[in-house]
Amino acid sequence: MKYQLIREDLEIEGYEKVVRFSCEETKLDSIVAIHNTRQGPALGGIRMLHYGSFEEGLQDVLRLAEGMTYKAFISGVKTGGGKSVVFLPEGDFSRESLFESFGQAVASLQGEYICAEDMGTSPEDMQFVQRATSYVVGRKNISGDPSYYTAHGLFLCLKSVARKLNASFGDSLRGLKVAIQGLGMVGFKLAEKLFWEGVSLVVADVNDKITDIAKTRFGADVVGVDEILRVSCDILSPCARGGILNSKSISVLGCKGITGAANNQLESPKIAEDLFLKGILYVPDYLANAGGLINAASELEKPYDPRKVLLSLDRIPAIFNEAYKISNTKNISLERVFLERFQEEF
Ligand code: NAD
Repeated sequence: MKYQLIREDLEIEGYEKVVRFSCEETKLDSIVAIHNTRQGPALGGIRMLHYGSFEEGLQDVLRLAEGMTYKAFISGVKTGGGKSVVFLPEGDFSRESLFESFGQAVASLQGEYICAEDMGTSPEDMQFVQRATSYVVGRKNISGDPSYYTAHGLFLCLKSVARKLNASFGDSLRGLKVAIQGLGMVGFKLAEKLFWEGVSLVVADVNDKITDIAKTRFGADVVGVDEILRVSCDILSPCARGGILNSKSISVLGCKGITGAANNQLESPKIAEDLFLKGILYVPDYLANAGGLINAASELEKPYDPRKVLLSLDRIPAIFNEAYKISNTKNISLERVFLERFQEEF
């Protein structure tokens, strides 16, 4: 063992294993949460952020790990739910040694947890992790950057949503208007795909450079970050950050449907019910953005086959269409359709 790791097991009800790993030498302070491995080894990204306290990081990793169990279940992936957080160190530190030592922590779990990149980490960091463990996916030279698959799965889902909102959208999406919040790794790729389908785009991002590019290349209308939710459009696609659908924002929404990549878009499950009552078709984020997970999990099937992954993404609109039927028959929101399934299963 290259680094001296300190391991502390935390007893948390409802979780199979929660472990804090730290290392003085590399400034590593991290938590790995394994929620459920019934479907397979727990797979989930490594989130590296500055958290205000240990408790804040703990709550984040617990919520995210549980979400991964449901996301894997819904998207038909044979992995369980897990996640990790790395507390962003203060001052200078070496990413190389930090992620090598984190890889050592993952190795010590002997395959119960498989990590991948997430917010604040990159495919390059996964190369460092890989030096210490083989339990890592999303490697640069294999399945790589997940955003291509997330964006494509989202695009397929959005097409199905458009057809539910207006049956006249068949093969062509001409005439559809989509508002995208956030033109990052996923949002920008989605904008490009929609442009080629003839969709009218309205976009917002805190980064003016990226909105300028979308304006020039895709003829997108650019609005302020405070305005995007109000834009009158067919579909709103939140691709920036979580919590944007809340008791305040839902009263100003100008869309008929919501399908986006951002994780945890709802402030609380109740918001899904409020959206349903308002007649807004909300697709739960864990389904709309499942493409990245489907791709990462495919790396566990050797050899990794991108053509097979592409076909697997068709599951996303298929699951949406099936759940939509149930939602109509029972007159309940899509979120509730899925929550009822989770409750039956877990
Ligand atoms: P990203 O960081 O590359 O992009 C986020 C974009 O949102 C950036 O361009 C940023 O400038 C912009 N932004 C930040 N605050 C904003 C605001 N208030 N209003 C408008 N724009 C704002 O992230 P990403 O990889 O594109 O992921 C987007 C979301 O999707 C995240 O919530 C992520 O957790 C989720 N997600 C991503 C993937 C993936 O494969 N990358 C997979 C599943 C879920």
